[in-house]
Amino acid sequence: MAEVLVYVDHVDGAVRKPTLELLTLARRIGEPVAVALGSGAGDTAATLAEHGAVKVLTHEAAEYADYLVVPKVDALQAAHEAVSPAAVLVPSSAEGKEIAARLALRLGSGVITDAVDLEAGDEGPVATQSVFAASYTTKSRVSKGTPVITVKPNSAAVEAAPAAGAVESLSVTFSEQATGTKVTGRTPRESTGRPELTEAAIVVSGGRGVNGAENFAIIEALADSLGAAVGASRAAVDAGWYPHTNQVGQTGKSVSPQLYIANGISGAIQHRAGMQTSKTIVAVNKDAEAPIFELVDFGVVGDLFDVVPQLTEEVKARKG
Ligand code: FAD
Repeated sequence: MAEVLVYVDHVDGAVRKPTLELLTLARRIGEPVAVALGSGAGDTAATLAEHGAVKVLTHEAAEYADYLVVPKVDALQAAHEAVSPAAVLVPSSAEGKEIAARLALRLGSGVITDAVDLEAGDEGPVATQSVFAASYTTKSRVSKGTPVITVKPNSAAVEAAPAAGAVESLSVTFSEQATGTKVTGRTPRESTGRPELTEAAIVVSGGRGVNGAENFAIIEALADSLGAAVGASRAAVDAGWYPHTNQVGQTGKSVSPQLYIANGISGAIQHRAGMQTSKTIVAVNKDAEAPIFELVDFGVVGDLFDVVPQLTEEVKARKG
């Protein structure tokens, strides 16, 4: 069976969920070979083996520490030479997409970004993408070189599938580009303790209807009761009520959680573009004619200032 390279996104050996989802999808098209780089790379092996990695290629070097992309591309290229895989899968983060694009260029391969599903095809893996503001679903495959495919978080279930997970150290020679760039400073963002927006299983968003920065406290309270991330429409972001890093939509982030709760958001096409692939969509809006109700699974016509706090209390009560 052909091998499939899976790029491992991890923090000091703790494997992030989108990588485990990639392993589920990789098993549909071949035998997953994981590539774990940087500090703690070896510590990822047990988790990766539990989720189907037949082999884990590791390489630790200081060059991976500073969020620089090129050393990681060098390593994936080395892994590609070592394995000759049927495909390379990378999580669809900003970094993952840059890695994928650079790798595909080096390999002379086609690249597909933001896939939401993956299946085996007669002529190679077939990727499903949601396009034109989620109005259409397309299926495509790479016809040149080794397919390099980025997959959006929450596109597949995480499944346990014990495999050998044999650890092998990867030999990497860094390119001049990799060693020619240095990070000279970094400003860490204050942690909210909430999950990352694009990876969260639940997203609670607020729009113009929230009517002020201070009122986002009720959106955050609902999010915290559910262990969710907080999103915002562009109207709320443009008004300065919430940071742009939390914007969902065409010019913000694209999310695909199990549950998306839109509060005081009308459902403009540009907002839908970033959330329409959510598995279950709930909206709270006082206007029964708001376009958001066209795509919801559950809708509440009501004032969010009445509904959202009640919902938060109900969630808390049920959790005990
Ligand atoms: P509105 O459209 O004003 O809707 C507010 C809603 O809140 C209304 O439906 C109203 O009934 C409801 N409401 C008001 N008060 C209450 C209350 N008390 N209780 C319950 N409901 C209430 N938008 C994005 O979101 N993300 C993007 O990335 C994005 N990119 C864009 C890119 C381009 C090129 C352009 C042109 C636009 C983009 N937009 C984007 C903007 C988009 O077109 C809309 O203007 C925006 O999404 C509207 O935000 P909203 O739904 O919060 O506000």
